[in-house]
Amino acid sequence: MASPLTNLYGLTRIELEGLVTGWELSRVHAARLWKYLYLEGTDTFAAMDELPVRLRSRLEEEATLGHLMIARETHSGDGFTRKYLLALSDAHRIETVLMRYTGRTTACISSQVGCAMGCVFCATGQMGYTRHLTAGEIVAQAVHVDRVLRRTLEESPALAETDHTSPHHRHERLRNIVLMGMGEPLHNYDAVMKAVDILCDGAGMGLGAKKITLSTVGVVPGIIRMTDEKRQMCLAVSLHGATQAERAALVPAARKWPLDALMDACRYYTTKMDRRIFFEWTLIEGKNDGPDQAHAVGALLQGMQAQVNLIPLNPTSGYAGLPSHTLAAKRFQEILAGYGLPSTVRQRRGIDIGAGCGQLAVAE
Ligand code: SAH
Ligand code: SF4
Repeated sequence: MASPLTNLYGLTRIELEGLVTGWELSRVHAARLWKYLYLEGTDTFAAMDELPVRLRSRLEEEATLGHLMIARETHSGDGFTRKYLLALSDAHRIETVLMRYTGRTTACISSQVGCAMGCVFCATGQMGYTRHLTAGEIVAQAVHVDRVLRRTLEESPALAETDHTSPHHRHERLRNIVLMGMGEPLHNYDAVMKAVDILCDGAGMGLGAKKITLSTVGVVPGIIRMTDEKRQMCLAVSLHGATQAERAALVPAARKWPLDALMDACRYYTTKMDRRIFFEWTLIEGKNDGPDQAHAVGALLQGMQAQVNLIPLNPTSGYAGLPSHTLAAKRFQEILAGYGLPSTVRQRRGIDIGAGCGQLAVAE
């Protein structure tokens, strides 16, 4: 049987150099190839015409450029959000979202096919776990979004000059990533961190680590490992309940990593890194949006370097709850402010195309 093709997006720059020099070709060609991959977004080997023919034919035989096929593309009515259903080489599918609001471009990237954590209100949790994504499949999602942005510019260069305000006509390169798509990134630690390292490589895509936000359900060993490795991306932790019992009812993973242990790990992170944590709180009407819960969150996080991101519940087929009213969210914020905690309410975007937080899912 032929050996599987090497996904070039899963290789660090050093590993790519090793591949090329292992074929007895100069490392200069590896450097050129890296630029094609990350600076120029070239999507076929044939178009890499500055590479020697021998290298291109070897690549054709033994390597691939990411495997991702666009199975479906959906645009939100307001023009701010695009969702891509992407097929992997084994025909499993994932979703990646491009967001263009608040003056910047952000890709929301998946780390797994499905998710094993089973949060009751999350469409990905409702579909269950299929498999981890490889580093190459994670990187390829960012490259895909970057290519979309680049193409828009190539197709209509005049627009970039003339209109900087409309979301339809904004053509930056990809600069921000949130690991908030399908899956639990700290459950797939090695692949996720390798992907982040590849995307941050200064000779390639060159993303700033601080422009990448990793959101976790609260995988305690992963938070400790990130701290020990001094990982520079931003950290978001999904809280949703301020007591062990209330949290475990929404987030089953809390039974494995209880609230006390999670808060210890969070304090370890904020102290050792001298960085804040974004705590996410999905606001569900009548469930966790009352003044009592807001006071409990305040008491839990008081004195920490923390910001609370409130996310009004987005609809999913497997959960009957409703999003909180604007007034309840406002009241929640006021109470948090009394504890010295800054907070934001996440804008509801992309809901019409099922691209909001927790809405990503594919039929397996
Ligand atoms: N697995 C990671 C990241 C993916 S989800 C995590 O759980 O943190 C990103 C955020 O959206 C999480 O805070 C998650 O709890 C939240 N979320 C999930 N389902 C949601 C829904 N239906 N409405 C609003 N937020 C949701
Ligand atoms: Fe998984 Fe996050 Fe969804 Fe929970 S909220 S099921 S951890 S993707």
